[in-house]
Amino acid sequence: MDIVYQKYRPTKISHLDLKTVRNLLAKVLSSENLPHAFLFAGPKGIGKTSAARVLAKSLNCLKQKKGEPCGKCDLCLEIGRGESLDVLEIDAASNRGIDDIRLLKEKVNLQPLKAKSKVYIVDEVHMLTREAFNAILKTLEEPPAHVYFVFCTTNPEKIPETVLSRLTRIDFQQATQEEIIHSLGRVVKGEKLKIDKEILELIAGCADGSFRDAHKIFYQLWLENKGRISLKSAQKALASWQEATPWYLLELIANKQIKEAVVIFETLGGRGVDWQDYGRRLLVNIQKLLLVKLGAQKGEKKTIELTNSLSLEEIIALGNVFGESLLKAKGSPLPWLPFQLAVISLGKYEEEKKEKPFPGELKTKKLKQPVEKKELVVEKQPVVKKQILALESLKENWLRFLEAVKPLNHSVCALLRAARPKKVDQDYVTLEVFYQFHKEQLEQERNRKILEQALASLFQTPLRIRCELGEKPVSVATAPKPISGNGDDLYKLAKDIFGE
Ligand SMILES: [Zn+2]
Repeated sequence: MDIVYQKYRPTKISHLDLKTVRNLLAKVLSSENLPHAFLFAGPKGIGKTSAARVLAKSLNCLKQKKGEPCGKCDLCLEIGRGESLDVLEIDAASNRGIDDIRLLKEKVNLQPLKAKSKVYIVDEVHMLTREAFNAILKTLEEPPAHVYFVFCTTNPEKIPETVLSRLTRIDFQQATQEEIIHSLGRVVKGEKLKIDKEILELIAGCADGSFRDAHKIFYQLWLENKGRISLKSAQKALASWQEATPWYLLELIANKQIKEAVVIFETLGGRGVDWQDYGRRLLVNIQKLLLVKLGAQKGEKKTIELTNSLSLEEIIALGNVFGESLLKAKGSPLPWLPFQLAVISLGKYEEEKKEKPFPGELKTKKLKQPVEKKELVVEKQPVVKKQILALESLKENWLRFLEAVKPLNHSVCALLRAARPKKVDQDYVTLEVFYQFHKEQLEQERNRKILEQALASLFQTPLRIRCELGEKPVSVATAPKPISGNGDDLYKLAKDIFGE
């Protein structure tokens, strides 16, 4: 399977399957002041390492255009085969990783052998010891001009703050159905296969946002069916994959099939599932439901269906209960037991719903009429009760506003930190921002809705948000020293958006 996955990995920026990552990297790589250290954060099998290799090519390609590597020159080919002596991949999770980091420290100042730049790709970087991080820190503070780092991790929260603050972070989020089909499409086309789109959709559904899993499933089906895959055989073969997705669990819970949901953990336990990974993916799915429910994100068909079958209270409860079980699962001799207990407590809640509040449930305002997206208001101790919001109260409660936005979207919260409230009138809150890119980002419909939701829940008054470009204040420039170049916009931008 790995051979096929490797063969059809994205080799150019324009091939990258995750749309947001593709656009961001294209933007960063076509700019002049390139950061020297990146953090690629996201779940397993989402293409972080592939993207890191593409980045290495872009930095070294002899004929790159606006950051896009040619894919044909000697250096592109060498890097693609993993044979370049100037592009070094280190697996921090292995024993050798520690030795490699020691070597890195010794050799980092030496010029590249053949390429323009040396690129260090460090996988599972959160596994490094504190000493190893300290050893790298100095290099990160003042990287030699020819050295670049790409740190990849599934657990960014385990990286020390001092290191994090030096990195330009790019988040790799779960792939959408469409992005997975796009990725599988390369194999279908490359191998000249004839496969129904419906089958690809089915595979994408089982892959739960992971390109690697999608390719694994695809390859297995392909082998079993000797290349001729029928929809029926696919459905049959994919049943066990489907069971292993957190999405399947959520569907069972939504259907009130509590017993089946408890049993599923036994089945998965027997298959040696990685529970930390499962728990994280489960939470990501719940977060998706929450955003769709609030109208802050669009969502695909199956997401909308599942969202409609759950109330906001239920989704919030799912997040709280499973968040706790993920923490408890760690180090437990029976790591899936906390998840089973969570499911049982959810089931009990269903039975006693009318009398008792749900375990871990937030108090939410009940609405008389059917729930409309825009009318959903979470009652979080309203700060101001009056209808018209005064600029002064917005300023006073600015931090609370940031806190209300943070759980909905970290990046938006980061952007907001670099903004300030400027004006409030009957219909609009005007924010002052200092970079064109911030303005564009905050005004994107999806992000704007998040802000408006938070505003509505905090101040009990529905207002629209708009941004105005202000003059750069002096204080903004006192942020941590840029990694490269002068206090350039790009660094600020990247730091503000991804450096949280
Ligand atoms: Zn090239």
